[in-house]
Amino acid sequence: MVQKSETIWFDGKQVAWDDANVHVLTHTLHYGLGVFEGIRAYKCVDGTSAVFRLREHVERLFASARILRMEIPYTVDQLVDAVVETLQRNKLDEGYIRPLSFVGAGAMGVNPGSNPIQTIIATWPWGAYLGEEALEAGIRVKTSSFQRHHVNAMMTKAKAVGNYVNSILAKTEALADGYDEGLMLDTAGFVSEATGENIFIVRGGVIKTTPLTSILDGITRNSLMTLAGDLGYTVVEQQFTRDELYVADEAFFCGTAAEVTPIREVDRRVIGAGKAGPVTKHLQTEYFKLVKGENPKYAHWLHQYSL
Ligand code: PMP
Repeated sequence: MVQKSETIWFDGKQVAWDDANVHVLTHTLHYGLGVFEGIRAYKCVDGTSAVFRLREHVERLFASARILRMEIPYTVDQLVDAVVETLQRNKLDEGYIRPLSFVGAGAMGVNPGSNPIQTIIATWPWGAYLGEEALEAGIRVKTSSFQRHHVNAMMTKAKAVGNYVNSILAKTEALADGYDEGLMLDTAGFVSEATGENIFIVRGGVIKTTPLTSILDGITRNSLMTLAGDLGYTVVEQQFTRDELYVADEAFFCGTAAEVTPIREVDRRVIGAGKAGPVTKHLQTEYFKLVKGENPKYAHWLHQYSL
């Protein structure tokens, strides 16, 4: 269960959590056209708090909307301010932030027509998405029988509500089969991404991640590529196959919710030493330092606020 906060920002107003409701004929509920974000705020070492790469997340929300021809009736600045206002109102010095723009009720039928585009920002406390233990010990992954969307079937650069049916299919299949997470291949058979995470592998000291073809342009992925480069690692964006993953020295998933989660097993094959490898550990440690304001080099990625 999500832990309730006091209010949810709903079309410009702070509305009591239990009153933030919609009509059952809300268009998005029927046809899946909507865009959302997942953002985290962290408590910093100096006693303040910071939202990690807030502007980039809000900009991606607007980019997702543009791809889907949705017009969000706010500016990036307005939603950036609304996120901070909602965190402060809910007295959250850390937590998860979920902006969502959706097509409201009005006309039915596939064409969203002139139905209103509504926006909410919900915030709540949320620990490690795949479990605290996963961050330490790593997770067991199954290559999904479901492929990631073909780039011309769904718009994979949009963080679109409807895209997540594909993720849910892969996630529930993986869980039902006794794994922690599903890894999807693209329609050409190359490794794509997981249900809510991008993937990295490490082999012979080189860090490799999938190119931006079939995947969401993850902000954590982007941050880790910069961080790893700055730490002196060689980072390449290159397609790879599932058997290249099987023989990797290390592998890990990343995302706002999953942060940096080591992969210890794929399709019943142990990856590397079957635990978080040294490069993964290094990046995970540095990532947590960075988001908590312990690395001044990346201060420009932190949107600081106080309660
Ligand atoms: N891929 C998918 C499908 C996702 O849902 C997410 C989470 N937003 C990611 C990758 C990682 O993106 P980010 O690092 O921006 O959270």
